[in-house]
Amino acid sequence: MPVEPAAPQPRRSRQARTVWGSRVVTVGGDAPVRVQSMTNTDTQDAIGTAIQVKELAIAGSEMVRITVNTPEAAQAVPYIREQLDRMGIDVPLIGDFHYNGHRLLTEFPACAQALSKYRINPGNVGKGDKHDKQFGQMIDAALRWDKPVRIGVNWGSLDQELLAGLMDENSRRAMPWDARSVMYEALITSAIDSAKLAESMGMDGSQIILSCKVSGVQDLVSVYRELARRCDYPLHLGLTEAGMGTKGTVASSVALGILLQEGIGDTIRVSLTPQPGESRTQEVVIASEILQALGLRSFVPSVTACPGCGRTTSTTFQELAKQIDDHLRSQMPVWRAKYPGVEKMKVAVMGCIVNGPGESKHADIGISLPGTGEAPAAPVFIDGQKALTLRGDNIAAEFHQIVENYIEQ
Ligand code: SF4
Repeated sequence: MPVEPAAPQPRRSRQARTVWGSRVVTVGGDAPVRVQSMTNTDTQDAIGTAIQVKELAIAGSEMVRITVNTPEAAQAVPYIREQLDRMGIDVPLIGDFHYNGHRLLTEFPACAQALSKYRINPGNVGKGDKHDKQFGQMIDAALRWDKPVRIGVNWGSLDQELLAGLMDENSRRAMPWDARSVMYEALITSAIDSAKLAESMGMDGSQIILSCKVSGVQDLVSVYRELARRCDYPLHLGLTEAGMGTKGTVASSVALGILLQEGIGDTIRVSLTPQPGESRTQEVVIASEILQALGLRSFVPSVTACPGCGRTTSTTFQELAKQIDDHLRSQMPVWRAKYPGVEKMKVAVMGCIVNGPGESKHADIGISLPGTGEAPAAPVFIDGQKALTLRGDNIAAEFHQIVENYIEQ
């Protein structure tokens, strides 16, 4: 039997739409898995927030969430939208509401209108009798302004009454579940019951997206597998509070990678804690790279480079790989429109003859630089065939030009 190539399983969710102006962003069904992000500015600072939304959108975020937590923030939202429209940034804005969303969406209709989607956290829309009333006010706003909603459950702010009820029920079981399983059940029940409640209030089920965020990789995989089994709402994936730097990047990549490979997830966010001085856009780059690494989407040409070893004569190949990668990324805003399909291109920059020619042949265009003890020659491969050999001190500049010519042609 031949070995079947691995591929992500098809997704099984229905489709929701997020709209702003002429921009329609579909989520779920056969739409591409969407990249989204969130600002960390004070939304009252409308200019600062608009600038960060613009940066995130340019980095590739297809939807941007902003906190709407006070009357001042709600008042700033239409102004932020106006500034973005003026700058030609038509990325949909999602309002992130907790505790007082029902009041803000009711008392500030311009805010409700300017947003493209509302994130509702069912764990903090009110307790007891107030819960359904306040949740209903948010759904009313969504219906009035024709907006989709994301019902976003988070285990840090889980509905405590629901959790207490499930724990109580569990204690009466002949064979009680472990505490983690009860927590998973509470997350999933909160999301699905809230979606059903929204539908009973008149919301079209196709305008509801669900998320159940937790901060542990195995917990996220367990919860989303079950959530996907129990419903066909589009799912937003993210490891909440993933952490800083390498830890957050690796944990998010692993968790999202497992689920996306199983066909689970329609939109993703990588929630990184930025290091001092680190750009917020890093989370968008990582989310895009996850999708590209899985073969789900292509955003920029990929550069394959070996790690280098004792056979590497100099750092030339590392510098060349970085230069090519930086150049390709920087040109993408122009090239994407000018050269359709360029984002699927593969370039290889390799350090010696051991894997250099082989890897270069697998790429659209590749170069194998000379390693220790090898003749000072760098064969270049184009479309799997050896095309020419570069020699001398200008190998980097000449290869750069060959890549440019290849793209133009
Ligand atoms: Fe080392 Fe050559 Fe392999 Fe690169 S391709 S890691 S230089 S053996």
